[in-house]
Amino acid sequence: MDPNGYSEAQLQIQRTVRDFARKEIAPGAEERDRTAQFGYALYRRMGDLGIPGMLYPTELGGSDADTLSFCLAIEEVSRVDASLGFTLWIGVQGAGTLLRSAADGREGWIDQYVRPIIRGEMVGAGAITEPDAGSDTAAIRTRAVAHGDEWVIDGAKIYISNAGMENCGFVTPLCRTEDGFALFLVPAGTPGYHISPPLRKMGLRSADTRELSFDGCRVPAAHLLGGRGSGRASVVGSGFALTRVYTASNGVGIAAECLDVALAHARSRIAFKRPIAQFQYVQGMLVDTAVELEAGRMLRDRAARVHTERLPFTKEASMAKLYCTETAKRAADHAVQVFGAMGVMDETPVSRYYRDARALTIAEGTSEIQKHIIAREMGCLA
Ligand SMILES: Cc1cc2nc3c(=O)[nH]c(=O)nc-3n(C[C@H](O)[C@H](O)[C@H](O)COP(=O)(O)OP(=O)(O)OC[C@H]3O[C@@H](n4cnc5c(N)ncnc54)[C@H](O)[C@@H]3O)c2cc1C
Repeated sequence: MDPNGYSEAQLQIQRTVRDFARKEIAPGAEERDRTAQFGYALYRRMGDLGIPGMLYPTELGGSDADTLSFCLAIEEVSRVDASLGFTLWIGVQGAGTLLRSAADGREGWIDQYVRPIIRGEMVGAGAITEPDAGSDTAAIRTRAVAHGDEWVIDGAKIYISNAGMENCGFVTPLCRTEDGFALFLVPAGTPGYHISPPLRKMGLRSADTRELSFDGCRVPAAHLLGGRGSGRASVVGSGFALTRVYTASNGVGIAAECLDVALAHARSRIAFKRPIAQFQYVQGMLVDTAVELEAGRMLRDRAARVHTERLPFTKEASMAKLYCTETAKRAADHAVQVFGAMGVMDETPVSRYYRDARALTIAEGTSEIQKHIIAREMGCLA
């Protein structure tokens, strides 16, 4: 039996993506990070391999895989290029939002957006955060007002992933309406929808992050997703729970790679006539990472399995997100320490993992917000 309890199908996905990641993704990762450029051709090849479409129905070109299988794919991609692993799940998430929508016109969106996303030709973007509303999503000010058979959207979003990519087909901003909050479909190129130049970041540099503005931006009435007033609960509640399991998988990938490269280095680097792996303080860093990685993987796997079983998984998802992203941060910090000065140099991958890991405890809900959710789920606020 596989020690992680992975099925033969899951192990096959893990092997296939690992092989592709080592051969095709790893070689250009350092350059993409240095130049903050996204690898569009590479993403298309991931599409040919079926990675973006894993979660989607076979009749649409997907492979109907379970949540954990997709998490294993994110993990393997993130081991060699966390920016790509992050872009991947954000890029495909919108296809699910469109498929779940009961709006008129949904059928047309399948050919226009969902199939291209599954093929790896397109990505989507989700926009919630605003300059004055980050963790406190109830404070968002972007407004959608109904005018005849259209909605008119006005407001600004910030730190939005993927929206400025040349293959981004649409963004789904969360807006305030007279009934509460709702998500809307805004196709790329809609008049009044403006995308700023890319924001420069310390980590996840080849992932796209932008500021957006909506200035009298008009979309058809049918572009309201999920029903009037349904937005914030569905996005911030169950929607975020799933994306937190994906972010946890970014973290597991970074931590796993940090452990492997730090261990290999510790066994080969000689100091005081011995491999540094023989020094207990160095062993302590490696052992801490190994134990935390195993524990994090179990939390991530459990959250993914509970989701597949369609059971409540808010607490499990937040525990996995909190633990795996904090583990990635510590693992990268230890890896830099084990590499010594080499670990600080841009040529050494661990310096990139250290910068990349830092964003993960903030994006998709900070660690403090995860603790708040876990406490709430434990009944502390009752
Ligand atoms: C790389 C990256 C990509 C992103 N992509 C997207 C995207 O695609 N779409 C999108 O909508 N957003 C995106 N975000 C934004 C992200 O969701 C927000 O940064 C996050 O929700 C935190 O909001 P904030 O940055 O405004 O921090 P704030 O909410 O201002 O928080 C600042 C600090 O206060 C703490 N804090 C706030 N409230 C509480 C509380 N109640 N209890 C305890 N501590 C608290 C926080 O934990 C944090 O330490 C991205 C962010 C990053 C870094």
